[in-house]
Amino acid sequence: MTPIALAPHVDGAELGGEALPPIGDLSLAGLRDLSVEMGHPAYRGDQVAAWLYRSTVRSFADMGNLPMALRQALAARFRIDAMAVEAEAVSADGETRKVALRLPDGDLVETVLMRYPVRDDGTGAERATVCVSTQVGCPVKCAFCATGLMGFTRNLSTGEIVGQALHFLRWSREVPPVVRNVVFMGMGEPLMNYDATMGAVALLVEGAGLGVHRLTVSTSGWLPGMERLAADPFPVRLAVSLHAPVDDLRSTLVPLNRRFPLPVLLDACWDYQARTGRRVTFEYVLLDGVNDTPALARELVRILRNHDVHVNLIPMNPVSSLPFGASRPEAVEAFHGVLRVAGMICTVRREMGRDIRAACGQLRTEVRERARAAVAVAP
Ligand code: SAH
Ligand code: SF4
Repeated sequence: MTPIALAPHVDGAELGGEALPPIGDLSLAGLRDLSVEMGHPAYRGDQVAAWLYRSTVRSFADMGNLPMALRQALAARFRIDAMAVEAEAVSADGETRKVALRLPDGDLVETVLMRYPVRDDGTGAERATVCVSTQVGCPVKCAFCATGLMGFTRNLSTGEIVGQALHFLRWSREVPPVVRNVVFMGMGEPLMNYDATMGAVALLVEGAGLGVHRLTVSTSGWLPGMERLAADPFPVRLAVSLHAPVDDLRSTLVPLNRRFPLPVLLDACWDYQARTGRRVTFEYVLLDGVNDTPALARELVRILRNHDVHVNLIPMNPVSSLPFGASRPEAVEAFHGVLRVAGMICTVRREMGRDIRAACGQLRTEVRERARAAVAVAP
Protein backbone atom coordinates (compact mmCIF):
# COMPACT_ATOMS: atom_id res chain seq x y z
CA MET A 1 0.00 0.00 0.00
CA THR A 2 1.17 3.52 -0.76
CA PRO A 3 1.55 5.47 2.47
CA ILE A 4 -0.90 8.27 3.01
CA ALA A 5 0.59 11.48 1.71
CA LEU A 6 -0.33 14.59 3.59
CA ALA A 7 -0.74 17.38 1.06
CA PRO A 8 0.57 20.82 2.01
CA HIS A 9 -2.17 23.23 3.00
CA VAL A 10 -3.40 25.22 0.02
CA ASP A 11 -3.64 28.84 1.01
CA GLY A 12 -6.73 30.97 0.66
CA ALA A 13 -5.47 32.79 -2.41
CA GLU A 14 -4.98 29.55 -4.34
CA LEU A 15 -8.38 28.34 -3.30
CA GLY A 16 -9.88 31.63 -4.41
CA GLY A 17 -10.49 32.78 -0.83
CA GLU A 18 -11.20 30.27 1.98
CA ALA A 19 -13.99 32.32 3.45
CA LEU A 20 -15.91 32.79 0.21
CA PRO A 21 -18.80 30.45 -0.67
CA PRO A 22 -18.13 27.82 -3.33
CA ILE A 23 -19.60 28.76 -6.71
CA GLY A 24 -20.82 25.15 -6.98
CA ASP A 25 -23.59 26.13 -4.54
CA LEU A 26 -25.30 27.90 -7.47
CA SER A 27 -27.57 26.07 -9.90
CA LEU A 28 -27.26 26.73 -13.64
CA ALA A 29 -30.20 29.14 -13.42
CA GLY A 30 -28.44 30.75 -10.45
CA LEU A 31 -25.29 31.29 -12.55
CA ARG A 32 -27.33 33.00 -15.28
CA ASP A 33 -29.05 35.23 -12.71
CA LEU A 34 -25.69 36.08 -11.17
CA SER A 35 -24.31 37.08 -14.54
CA VAL A 36 -27.22 39.44 -15.11
CA GLU A 37 -26.90 40.80 -11.58
CA MET A 38 -23.24 41.55 -12.33
CA GLY A 39 -24.25 43.50 -15.45
CA HIS A 40 -23.58 40.84 -18.10
CA PRO A 41 -25.87 38.83 -20.39
CA ALA A 42 -27.37 35.61 -18.98
CA TYR A 43 -25.44 33.43 -21.44
CA ARG A 44 -22.23 34.35 -19.62
CA GLY A 45 -23.57 32.16 -16.81
CA ASP A 46 -23.61 29.21 -19.21
CA GLN A 47 -20.03 29.98 -20.16
CA VAL A 48 -19.04 29.98 -16.50
CA ALA A 49 -20.78 26.59 -16.10
CA ALA A 50 -18.89 25.19 -19.08
CA TRP A 51 -15.57 26.23 -17.48
CA LEU A 52 -16.56 24.87 -14.11
CA TYR A 53 -18.02 21.54 -15.16
CA ARG A 54 -16.48 20.67 -18.52
CA SER A 55 -12.87 21.87 -18.25
CA THR A 56 -9.92 21.39 -15.94
CA VAL A 57 -9.62 25.12 -15.18
CA ARG A 58 -9.44 25.96 -11.47
CA SER A 59 -9.29 29.73 -11.47
CA PHE A 60 -11.67 32.45 -12.68
CA ALA A 61 -8.69 34.27 -14.20
CA ASP A 62 -8.24 31.40 -16.68
CA MET A 63 -11.82 31.55 -17.98
CA GLY A 64 -10.54 32.97 -21.24
CA ASN A 65 -13.78 33.86 -23.04
CA LEU A 66 -15.26 35.89 -20.15
CA PRO A 67 -14.82 39.67 -19.92
CA MET A 68 -12.08 40.55 -17.42
CA ALA A 69 -14.54 42.52 -15.28
CA LEU A 70 -16.75 39.45 -14.84
CA ARG A 71 -13.78 37.23 -13.97
CA GLN A 72 -12.71 39.72 -11.32
CA ALA A 73 -16.22 40.13 -9.92
CA LEU A 74 -16.61 36.34 -9.64
CA ALA A 75 -13.22 35.94 -7.94
CA ALA A 76 -14.17 38.60 -5.39
CA ARG A 77 -17.34 36.75 -4.36
CA PHE A 78 -16.73 33.02 -4.84
CA ARG A 79 -14.13 30.32 -4.67
CA ILE A 80 -14.00 27.48 -7.19
CA ASP A 81 -12.74 24.61 -5.04
CA ALA A 82 -15.02 23.97 -2.13
CA MET A 83 -12.29 22.01 -0.30
CA ALA A 84 -8.53 21.41 -0.14
CA VAL A 85 -6.91 17.96 -0.28
CA GLU A 86 -5.71 17.05 3.22
CA ALA A 87 -4.57 13.48 2.56
CA GLU A 88 -4.61 11.02 -0.30
CA ALA A 89 -4.22 7.25 -0.33
CA VAL A 90 -3.72 5.13 -3.45
CA SER A 91 -4.28 1.37 -3.49
CA ALA A 92 -1.35 -0.87 -4.41
CA ASP A 93 -2.85 -1.58 -7.84
CA GLY A 94 -3.38 2.16 -8.43
CA GLU A 95 -7.06 1.66 -9.31
CA THR A 96 -8.59 3.10 -6.13
CA ARG A 97 -7.74 6.58 -4.89
CA LYS A 98 -9.21 8.12 -1.81
CA VAL A 99 -8.91 11.71 -0.65
CA ALA A 100 -9.76 13.35 2.65
CA LEU A 101 -10.91 16.87 1.76
CA ARG A 102 -10.75 19.70 4.27
CA LEU A 103 -13.84 21.90 4.47
CA PRO A 104 -13.54 25.64 5.20
CA ASP A 105 -14.84 25.05 8.74
CA GLY A 106 -12.00 22.60 9.32
CA ASP A 107 -13.83 19.29 9.13
CA LEU A 108 -12.99 16.46 6.75
CA VAL A 109 -14.97 14.48 4.19
CA GLU A 110 -13.95 11.55 2.05
CA THR A 111 -14.21 10.95 -1.67
CA VAL A 112 -13.14 7.81 -3.51
CA LEU A 113 -12.30 7.17 -7.16
CA MET A 114 -12.67 3.58 -8.35
CA ARG A 115 -11.32 2.63 -11.75
CA TYR A 116 -12.48 -0.68 -13.15
CA PRO A 117 -10.07 -1.79 -15.84
CA VAL A 118 -10.75 -4.58 -18.30
CA ARG A 119 -9.83 -7.83 -16.49
CA ASP A 120 -7.14 -10.21 -17.78
CA ASP A 121 -9.86 -12.54 -19.09
CA GLY A 122 -11.30 -9.67 -21.16
CA THR A 123 -14.38 -9.15 -18.97
CA GLY A 124 -15.23 -5.91 -17.16
CA ALA A 125 -15.23 -2.48 -18.67
CA GLU A 126 -12.80 0.38 -18.59
CA ARG A 127 -14.78 2.82 -16.46
CA ALA A 128 -14.34 5.17 -13.55
CA THR A 129 -16.76 5.88 -10.71
CA VAL A 130 -16.57 8.54 -8.00
CA CYS A 131 -18.11 7.90 -4.59
CA VAL A 132 -19.08 11.15 -2.86
CA SER A 133 -20.05 12.05 0.71
CA THR A 134 -23.19 14.02 1.47
CA GLN A 135 -22.80 14.72 5.20
CA VAL A 136 -20.03 15.10 7.77
CA GLY A 137 -20.67 11.99 9.85
CA CYS A 138 -24.13 10.41 9.74
CA PRO A 139 -27.14 10.46 12.05
CA VAL A 140 -28.21 6.88 11.20
CA LYS A 141 -25.35 5.15 13.11
CA CYS A 142 -25.37 1.72 11.46
CA ALA A 143 -23.59 -0.81 13.66
CA PHE A 144 -20.85 -1.78 11.17
CA CYS A 145 -20.09 1.63 9.64
CA ALA A 146 -17.08 3.84 10.42
CA THR A 147 -19.07 6.96 9.51
CA GLY A 148 -21.85 5.95 11.90
CA LEU A 149 -19.31 5.87 14.74
CA MET A 150 -18.56 9.58 14.27
CA GLY A 151 -22.05 10.80 14.99
CA PHE A 152 -23.45 13.62 12.90
CA THR A 153 -21.85 17.04 12.44
CA ARG A 154 -23.60 18.72 9.51
CA ASN A 155 -25.00 18.48 6.00
CA LEU A 156 -22.73 19.29 3.06
CA SER A 157 -23.81 22.00 0.63
CA THR A 158 -24.40 21.38 -3.08
CA GLY A 159 -21.03 22.97 -3.87
CA GLU A 160 -19.28 20.73 -1.36
CA ILE A 161 -20.90 17.62 -2.85
CA VAL A 162 -20.40 18.49 -6.51
CA GLY A 163 -16.86 19.71 -5.68
CA GLN A 164 -15.92 16.17 -4.64
CA ALA A 165 -17.06 14.72 -7.96
CA LEU A 166 -15.27 17.52 -9.81
CA HIS A 167 -12.02 16.79 -7.98
CA PHE A 168 -11.78 13.38 -9.66
CA LEU A 169 -13.66 14.33 -12.83
CA ARG A 170 -10.93 16.87 -13.62
CA TRP A 171 -8.20 14.44 -12.67
CA SER A 172 -9.68 11.72 -14.88
CA ARG A 173 -9.80 14.07 -17.88
CA GLU A 174 -6.02 13.98 -17.70
CA VAL A 175 -5.73 10.33 -16.64
CA PRO A 176 -8.55 8.42 -18.41
CA PRO A 177 -10.93 6.63 -18.21
CA VAL A 178 -12.98 9.76 -17.65
CA VAL A 179 -15.45 9.56 -14.76
CA ARG A 180 -18.95 8.80 -16.05
CA ASN A 181 -20.55 7.37 -12.90
CA VAL A 182 -21.14 9.01 -9.55
CA VAL A 183 -22.46 7.11 -6.54
CA PHE A 184 -23.73 8.93 -3.46
CA MET A 185 -22.37 6.25 -1.15
CA GLY A 186 -19.67 8.02 0.85
CA MET A 187 -20.15 9.46 4.31
CA GLY A 188 -23.70 10.35 5.27
CA GLU A 189 -27.31 9.63 4.36
CA PRO A 190 -27.97 11.48 1.08
CA LEU A 191 -31.77 11.48 1.37
CA MET A 192 -31.54 13.27 4.73
CA ASN A 193 -29.75 16.05 2.83
CA TYR A 194 -32.12 15.95 -0.10
CA ASP A 195 -31.93 19.42 -1.63
CA ALA A 196 -28.14 19.67 -1.59
CA THR A 197 -27.78 16.14 -2.96
CA MET A 198 -30.25 16.69 -5.79
CA GLY A 199 -28.69 20.09 -6.50
CA ALA A 200 -25.43 18.24 -7.10
CA VAL A 201 -27.26 15.70 -9.29
CA ALA A 202 -28.66 18.55 -11.43
CA LEU A 203 -25.20 20.11 -11.88
CA LEU A 204 -23.62 16.78 -12.79
CA VAL A 205 -26.32 16.09 -15.39
CA GLU A 206 -26.88 19.56 -16.85
CA GLY A 207 -23.46 21.06 -16.14
CA ALA A 208 -21.02 18.16 -16.53
CA GLY A 209 -23.18 16.21 -19.01
CA LEU A 210 -23.29 12.92 -17.08
CA GLY A 211 -26.20 10.58 -17.79
CA VAL A 212 -28.79 10.65 -15.02
CA HIS A 213 -28.95 6.84 -15.21
CA ARG A 214 -25.24 6.80 -14.27
CA LEU A 215 -25.88 8.48 -10.92
CA THR A 216 -26.85 6.30 -7.95
CA VAL A 217 -28.22 7.53 -4.65
CA SER A 218 -27.87 5.03 -1.81
CA THR A 219 -30.15 5.16 1.21
CA SER A 220 -30.46 3.29 4.47
CA GLY A 221 -34.22 3.70 4.09
CA TRP A 222 -35.15 7.34 4.82
CA LEU A 223 -38.72 7.16 3.57
CA PRO A 224 -39.52 10.88 3.31
CA GLY A 225 -36.57 11.19 0.92
CA MET A 226 -37.53 8.12 -1.09
CA GLU A 227 -41.03 9.53 -1.58
CA ARG A 228 -39.64 12.85 -2.82
CA LEU A 229 -37.21 11.05 -5.10
CA ALA A 230 -40.02 9.11 -6.78
CA ALA A 231 -41.45 12.44 -7.99
CA ASP A 232 -38.12 14.12 -8.78
CA PRO A 233 -37.40 15.34 -12.34
CA PHE A 234 -34.00 13.58 -12.14
CA PRO A 235 -34.77 9.84 -11.94
CA VAL A 236 -31.44 8.65 -10.55
CA ARG A 237 -30.78 5.03 -9.74
CA LEU A 238 -31.83 4.08 -6.23
CA ALA A 239 -29.82 1.70 -4.06
CA VAL A 240 -31.32 0.61 -0.76
CA SER A 241 -29.03 -0.66 1.99
CA LEU A 242 -30.93 -3.68 3.27
CA HIS A 243 -28.34 -5.84 5.10
CA ALA A 244 -31.01 -8.10 6.65
CA PRO A 245 -34.33 -9.60 5.47
CA VAL A 246 -35.95 -9.67 8.94
CA ASP A 247 -36.90 -6.71 11.13
CA ASP A 248 -35.17 -7.75 14.39
CA LEU A 249 -31.79 -8.18 12.81
CA ARG A 250 -32.13 -5.17 10.54
CA SER A 251 -33.04 -2.97 13.50
CA THR A 252 -29.80 -3.93 15.25
CA LEU A 253 -27.71 -3.22 12.13
CA VAL A 254 -29.58 -0.18 10.77
CA PRO A 255 -31.32 1.60 13.68
CA LEU A 256 -33.52 3.57 11.23
CA ASN A 257 -35.39 0.29 10.70
CA ARG A 258 -37.21 0.84 14.00
CA ARG A 259 -38.81 3.93 12.48
CA PHE A 260 -39.38 2.52 8.99
CA PRO A 261 -39.58 -1.28 9.25
CA LEU A 262 -39.12 -3.65 6.30
CA PRO A 263 -42.72 -3.89 5.03
CA VAL A 264 -42.98 -0.09 4.88
CA LEU A 265 -39.53 0.24 3.31
CA LEU A 266 -40.21 -2.39 0.67
CA ASP A 267 -43.53 -0.76 -0.23
CA ALA A 268 -41.67 2.51 -0.80
CA CYS A 269 -39.18 0.66 -3.05
CA TRP A 270 -41.93 -0.88 -5.18
CA ASP A 271 -43.59 2.52 -5.40
CA TYR A 272 -40.32 4.07 -6.61
CA GLN A 273 -40.03 1.33 -9.17
CA ALA A 274 -43.60 1.76 -10.40
CA ARG A 275 -43.34 5.53 -10.68
CA THR A 276 -39.89 5.75 -12.29
CA GLY A 277 -39.66 2.46 -14.18
CA ARG A 278 -36.28 2.00 -12.50
CA ARG A 279 -34.99 -1.28 -11.13
CA VAL A 280 -34.03 -0.88 -7.46
CA THR A 281 -30.67 -2.21 -6.25
CA PHE A 282 -30.48 -3.73 -2.78
CA GLU A 283 -27.14 -3.60 -1.02
CA TYR A 284 -26.28 -6.27 1.50
CA VAL A 285 -23.02 -6.06 3.44
CA LEU A 286 -22.06 -9.61 4.45
CA LEU A 287 -21.00 -9.75 8.12
CA ASP A 288 -19.39 -12.93 9.37
CA GLY A 289 -21.85 -15.05 11.35
CA VAL A 290 -24.38 -12.21 11.62
CA ASN A 291 -26.39 -11.94 8.41
CA ASP A 292 -24.70 -14.41 6.06
CA THR A 293 -26.51 -17.72 6.67
CA PRO A 294 -28.30 -19.69 3.91
CA ALA A 295 -31.56 -19.37 5.90
CA LEU A 296 -31.33 -15.56 5.71
CA ALA A 297 -30.49 -15.81 2.01
CA ARG A 298 -33.71 -17.80 1.49
CA GLU A 299 -35.66 -15.20 3.46
CA LEU A 300 -34.13 -12.47 1.29
CA VAL A 301 -35.33 -14.33 -1.80
CA ARG A 302 -38.79 -14.60 -0.27
CA ILE A 303 -39.21 -10.87 0.38
CA LEU A 304 -37.77 -9.73 -2.96
CA ARG A 305 -39.24 -12.44 -5.19
CA ASN A 306 -41.66 -11.25 -7.90
CA HIS A 307 -39.94 -7.88 -8.21
CA ASP A 308 -37.40 -6.61 -10.71
CA VAL A 309 -34.43 -6.13 -8.41
CA HIS A 310 -30.66 -6.34 -8.36
CA VAL A 311 -28.93 -7.54 -5.21
CA ASN A 312 -25.39 -6.35 -4.61
CA LEU A 313 -23.53 -8.40 -2.01
CA ILE A 314 -20.74 -6.35 -0.42
CA PRO A 315 -17.81 -7.93 1.40
CA MET A 316 -17.46 -5.99 4.63
CA ASN A 317 -14.50 -3.66 4.98
CA PRO A 318 -13.43 -4.33 8.57
CA VAL A 319 -13.38 -1.30 10.87
CA SER A 320 -10.86 -1.77 13.69
CA SER A 321 -13.02 -0.56 16.57
CA LEU A 322 -16.15 -2.51 15.53
CA PRO A 323 -16.98 -6.13 16.44
CA PHE A 324 -17.78 -7.30 12.91
CA GLY A 325 -15.72 -9.22 10.40
CA ALA A 326 -16.04 -9.92 6.69
CA SER A 327 -17.88 -13.14 5.84
CA ARG A 328 -15.75 -16.12 4.93
CA PRO A 329 -15.49 -16.76 1.17
CA GLU A 330 -17.46 -20.06 1.50
CA ALA A 331 -20.31 -18.19 3.23
CA VAL A 332 -20.34 -15.53 0.51
CA GLU A 333 -20.42 -18.23 -2.17
CA ALA A 334 -23.23 -20.15 -0.40
CA PHE A 335 -25.30 -16.97 0.10
CA HIS A 336 -24.76 -15.96 -3.52
CA GLY A 337 -25.67 -19.49 -4.61
CA VAL A 338 -29.09 -19.37 -2.91
CA LEU A 339 -29.93 -16.12 -4.71
CA ARG A 340 -28.62 -17.36 -8.06
CA VAL A 341 -30.56 -20.61 -7.90
CA ALA A 342 -33.71 -18.58 -7.17
CA GLY A 343 -33.05 -16.68 -10.42
CA MET A 344 -32.24 -13.33 -8.82
CA ILE A 345 -29.93 -10.83 -10.48
CA CYS A 346 -27.12 -10.74 -7.97
CA THR A 347 -23.51 -9.57 -8.01
CA VAL A 348 -20.73 -9.71 -5.44
CA ARG A 349 -19.05 -6.33 -5.40
CA ARG A 350 -15.43 -6.44 -6.49
CA GLU A 351 -13.30 -5.54 -3.53
CA MET A 352 -11.69 -2.21 -4.17
CA GLY A 353 -8.95 -0.62 -2.15
CA ARG A 354 -9.25 -2.65 1.01
CA ASP A 355 -5.54 -1.82 1.56
CA ILE A 356 -6.43 1.88 1.81
CA ARG A 357 -9.37 1.35 4.15
CA ALA A 358 -11.87 2.26 1.42
CA ALA A 359 -14.90 1.77 3.69
CA CYS A 360 -16.47 5.15 4.12
CA GLY A 361 -15.26 7.14 7.07
CA GLN A 362 -12.04 5.26 7.66
CA LEU A 363 -9.52 7.66 6.11
CA ARG A 364 -11.10 10.62 7.87
CA THR A 365 -10.90 8.78 11.19
CA GLU A 366 -7.27 7.96 10.57
CA VAL A 367 -6.29 11.52 9.61
CA ARG A 368 -8.02 12.86 12.71
CA GLU A 369 -6.35 10.27 14.95
CA ARG A 370 -2.96 11.17 13.49
CA ALA A 371 -3.65 14.85 14.03
CA ARG A 372 -4.62 14.16 17.65
CA ALA A 373 -1.48 12.05 18.17
CA ALA A 374 0.62 14.86 16.70
CA VAL A 375 -0.94 17.34 19.13
CA ALA A 376 -0.37 14.93 22.02
CA VAL A 377 3.38 14.63 21.33
CA ALA A 378 3.87 18.33 20.56
CA PRO A 379 6.03 20.07 23.17
N1 SAH B 1 -25.98 6.21 4.04
C1 SAH B 1 -26.20 5.59 2.80
C2 SAH B 1 -25.08 5.80 1.81
C3 SAH B 1 -23.70 5.77 2.37
S1 SAH B 1 -23.15 4.20 2.99
C4 SAH B 1 -26.49 4.12 2.98
O1 SAH B 1 -26.30 3.60 4.06
O2 SAH B 1 -26.92 3.50 2.00
C5 SAH B 1 -22.91 3.34 1.44
C6 SAH B 1 -22.85 1.83 1.58
O3 SAH B 1 -21.67 1.44 2.28
C7 SAH B 1 -24.01 1.28 2.34
O4 SAH B 1 -24.61 0.20 1.68
C8 SAH B 1 -23.36 0.85 3.62
O5 SAH B 1 -24.09 -0.12 4.27
C9 SAH B 1 -22.00 0.41 3.17
N2 SAH B 1 -21.04 0.28 4.25
C10 SAH B 1 -20.97 0.97 5.41
N3 SAH B 1 -19.94 0.52 6.17
C11 SAH B 1 -19.37 -0.49 5.49
C12 SAH B 1 -18.28 -1.37 5.77
N4 SAH B 1 -17.58 -1.27 6.89
N5 SAH B 1 -17.98 -2.29 4.83
C13 SAH B 1 -18.67 -2.38 3.67
N6 SAH B 1 -19.70 -1.58 3.36
C14 SAH B 1 -20.06 -0.65 4.27
FE1 SF4 C 1 -24.95 6.35 7.70
FE2 SF4 C 1 -24.94 4.77 5.53
FE3 SF4 C 1 -23.02 4.54 7.45
FE4 SF4 C 1 -25.52 3.78 7.96
S1 SF4 C 1 -24.13 2.87 6.43
S2 SF4 C 1 -24.22 5.01 9.32
S3 SF4 C 1 -26.71 5.28 6.85
S4 SF4 C 1 -23.36 6.27 6.13
